[in-house]
Amino acid sequence: PWLKCNFVRKKWCSSIVKHNAIRSILVANRGEIAIRVFRACNELGIKSVAIYSEMDKMQMHRQKADEAYMVGRGLAPVEAYLNIPGIINICKENDIDAVHPGYGFLSERSDFAQAVIDAGLRFIGPSPQVMQTMGDKTAARIAAKEACVPTVPGTEGPVTTEEEALAFCQKHGLPVIFKAAHGGGGRGMRIVRNMEEVKENFERASSKAQAAFGNGELFIEKLIEHPRHIEVQILGDHAGNIVHLFERDCSIQLRHQKLIEIAPAPQLPVEIRDKMTEAAIQISKHVGYENAGTVEFLCDESGNFYFIEVNARLQVEHTVTEEITGIDLVRSQIRIAEGMTLEELGLCQENIVPRGFAIQCRVTTENPEQGFQPDMGRIEVFRSGEGMGIRIDGASTYPGAIISPHYDSLLVKVISYAIDFQVAASKMSRALREFRIRGVKTNIPFLLSVLNNERFLNGTLDTHFIDDHPELMR
Ligand code: ADP
Repeated sequence: PWLKCNFVRKKWCSSIVKHNAIRSILVANRGEIAIRVFRACNELGIKSVAIYSEMDKMQMHRQKADEAYMVGRGLAPVEAYLNIPGIINICKENDIDAVHPGYGFLSERSDFAQAVIDAGLRFIGPSPQVMQTMGDKTAARIAAKEACVPTVPGTEGPVTTEEEALAFCQKHGLPVIFKAAHGGGGRGMRIVRNMEEVKENFERASSKAQAAFGNGELFIEKLIEHPRHIEVQILGDHAGNIVHLFERDCSIQLRHQKLIEIAPAPQLPVEIRDKMTEAAIQISKHVGYENAGTVEFLCDESGNFYFIEVNARLQVEHTVTEEITGIDLVRSQIRIAEGMTLEELGLCQENIVPRGFAIQCRVTTENPEQGFQPDMGRIEVFRSGEGMGIRIDGASTYPGAIISPHYDSLLVKVISYAIDFQVAASKMSRALREFRIRGVKTNIPFLLSVLNNERFLNGTLDTHFIDDHPELMR
């Protein structure tokens, strides 16, 4: 494979000229993910452009880009990064070629991707049509079924009345989970175990979905008890080729939000992995997926797996896949957006070989002693963990950084890599113990208790792990 790769690399260099090269990229985001993309731009010789809200004038992502423009003057801090006309204007006025959306904010908005394309720029991600299908979880479930990929038993389309919800529960039995059709980030889900709770939960879930996602549509799925959350990273090119970059286990969650991610999934039988990666390719091919994406599954105790959704963007946890495959996902995204095929990138399936284990911990400014309430303030002391096998992706990682209540509480992603899972876990623990952060509280003590837990170290994980171990919260 090395000889083949070298051959491909030579071809790649000459084809850069042939393809529609990108000269400048605006990242419609902030914080660590903006910096992650700027780094890839820098390595490729592409001009990087930041946007920042009024409040983010002093933020690190502004300094790390070649150019930076304020967006949404006078708007609320989050609204600034959601200001589509403002962002498009900055692109037009500053001769920008392409936009990378990062994750969160506008990254899953097909209307944003369309606005970028309509302005004559390239959107680094899938087509707006694919984003629209994937952004609607009920449409995504239909696409999975058409591609013969197993889904969790659930309603065919959105459920709009309590009567429909009751009828589903009576027919299919409890427990079930109510989900927002346009939801994300682990929010807007409710588990129902008794018939008497159906009505009340339906109302609550619907009004929450309306408030959080601007759309109150719900659908219902059977609850899978003690599942593992396993997701497959895929890459697709404009010619319809798709490869997978193996899987990640994201079962360690707090309130349905991922906390620790691992690649590859420890203790996953190879035949299940093969079937899941195949299923991920099937659905991606079926919808004509281009660029980077993630196909998420739940896997039950008997080894059955079920599609839950596709995230049509780069994910927070893409780092662990990069560590085990050696493939830079952001660089690949940019090259694909320039029109290169997977083959030209040397990304044939047989060349993608995972090696070792990588773990990512999301260090947040949440206080474990106060129910994981977000903490805020000025960082007085910041010393990071370092050394062999440790990668740090962060933004506000210096003394003087201000942690505001307005944005996500992710402070820094710590990624460890080693040839086996236990060694990767010990490197992570050691690195987290090296951290010294004063001025704001973080979840590091909690992460350390998970990492030292015997069940975690055995790799027997499921999404109930934290609920099953209340002692970790103390
Ligand atoms: P979101 O897009 O909000 O992240 P997902 O559909 O990806 O929502 O689900 C997030 C998490 O919620 C899953 O990883 C899992 O822990 C839990 N979950 C979702 N659907 C089910 C289900 N049918 N049964 C059990 N747990 C579920």
